[in-house]
Amino acid sequence: MYCGYCGRLIRRCACGAPESDIRRFLARAGRQYAPLLQQSPPKWAVPPQIKRRERATLQRHYREWFRRLASDGGERCANCGAGEKLVLDHVIPIAKGGLSQLKNLQLLCAECNRIKGKLMIDCREFKQPE
Ligand SMILES: [Zn+2]
Ligand SMILES: [Zn+2]
Repeated sequence: MYCGYCGRLIRRCACGAPESDIRRFLARAGRQYAPLLQQSPPKWAVPPQIKRRERATLQRHYREWFRRLASDGGERCANCGAGEKLVLDHVIPIAKGGLSQLKNLQLLCAECNRIKGKLMIDCREFKQPE
């Protein structure tokens, strides 16, 4: 069994540990950490040419998509609500087969983006702190 957040074997996973970034990340959005279990290891191998293509697509549309998301959901981090240093984040990372399409993107602050890394966490459904 593998952890659906970090992709490690369950006995090696530290996502639920009190000091874990993942736990804090989810707590910020008022979510409990609950391990996502996967039977088989996640498929990591996305060919480099696909990654390049998806990164190039993102760059081409970056400003346009950023503006769209900012006007739809407000100019703030979908996880913690911060309004500064925002970046476009792939909900399903390119490295895990996610595509550069508006429906696979969310606005995150640089810090949340760093913690999220290659996790597949959709923050768009998180309730924003008012
Ligand atoms: Zn984990
Ligand atoms: Zn944030």
